[in-house]
Amino acid sequence: MKTGKCPHCGSDEVYLSDDPLQGLFAIKTDMGDLFSVRGYLCLSCRAVQFEVLTESAVLFGKPKQLQTEVPLSTNWQKINKA
Ligand SMILES: [Zn+2]
Repeated sequence: MKTGKCPHCGSDEVYLSDDPLQGLFAIKTDMGDLFSVRGYLCLSCRAVQFEVLTESAVLFGKPKQLQTEVPLSTNWQKINKA
């Protein structure tokens, strides 16, 4: 999707939005960090793909990093292969 080609149907009718759900959907940690998503939409087969941004949304101060905050949060559990 990122390259502009749909991996499901092969179409190049792929659109990108930096606010696909108008702020209604974000990845959250239990520390209150919010990581916005961008969305890719294929107009040919209507597949949607979301990509989480690496830095948290902030009004003030420094953004937090997705890579460090998610492992620290209890509402996200790493899936361990048996
Ligand atoms: Zn498609």
